[in-house]
Amino acid sequence: MKNVAVIGAGTMGNGIAHVFAQFGYQVNLIDVSEAALERALATISKNLDRQVAKGGITEAEKTQTLQNLSTFSVMAEGVKGVELVVEAATENVDLKLKIFKELDALTAPEVILATNTSSISITKIAAVTNRPEKVIGMHFMNPVPVMKLVEIIRGYSTSDEVTNLIMETSRSLSKVPVEVNDYPGFVANRILMPMINEAIYTLFEGVAGVEEIDTVMKLGMAHPMGPLQLADFIGLDVCLAILEVLHDGFGNPKYAPCPLLVNMVMAGKKGVKSGEGFYSWTHGTKDLVVAANFKK
Ligand code: NAD
Repeated sequence: MKNVAVIGAGTMGNGIAHVFAQFGYQVNLIDVSEAALERALATISKNLDRQVAKGGITEAEKTQTLQNLSTFSVMAEGVKGVELVVEAATENVDLKLKIFKELDALTAPEVILATNTSSISITKIAAVTNRPEKVIGMHFMNPVPVMKLVEIIRGYSTSDEVTNLIMETSRSLSKVPVEVNDYPGFVANRILMPMINEAIYTLFEGVAGVEEIDTVMKLGMAHPMGPLQLADFIGLDVCLAILEVLHDGFGNPKYAPCPLLVNMVMAGKKGVKSGEGFYSWTHGTKDLVVAANFKK
């Protein structure tokens, strides 16, 4: 495969387009928003500069990477002639089902349709197409150019052939693919989100403060950052949405989102993206939020 379309040019889409282009694929980056496409190209260029400065790639490789990228605001044009589509549009089930129905109609039957969804069932997405054996999860981690893992999720009908090809494609991007089955949260979020939820409960119940909880996990467990800071990075709304998928999918109360998380999301405190979560985030600096309203 040499020709790839990436749908959605947000946080993940620009990173996915970046790595495919860097490793020699012709990439069509598609977004309904022209502004998102412009921002994505600027971000890719800035991240490539960083790689050049660190000696990871040469100036010529940066130029080649940018030449491998084209942008489109109309999906029908962007998917023409591609062999693989990686969908990284907004995490919304109705939107993804609509996009996959359209992709099924717009692309040749042999084209593989992958999704970067964090939590939506691959089997459900595959079921709206006429090629469920060619629909697969390709779950990159943020920031994509840096993180080695790609969680490869097999839907109920995904074929061995497609799984092997996508594992191989991930290796061609210098990533490490791990194959998992399609159950709520897959593996990454099934393990990560209950840990984050438990950290929030620990705060909610007044066992310790934000900084204490994060310090215990950083210094005690050698995590690069604490779970509350990580939740701020991921987005508290995203954490809540994934916990709801786990809770609904397994029907087990152990996944019930902590009421404090629910309240913070309702209050618009979504973490880094809104400027405040467990920490306040101004100009990239991190200050502890004085959360007197919930601390005992
Ligand atoms: P984002 O909000 O940054 O970007 C989504 C982009 O999709 C936006 O630019 C939006 O304009 C575009 N879009 C919406 N509808 C579209 C359509 N019909 N056609 C084309 N583009 C459309 O979101 P994100 O954080 O990049 O997440 C994208 C996907 O990746 C989601 O499924 C998410 O669950 C998954 N994911 C996110 C992370 C993360 O850390 N942010 C990590 C792993 C996976």
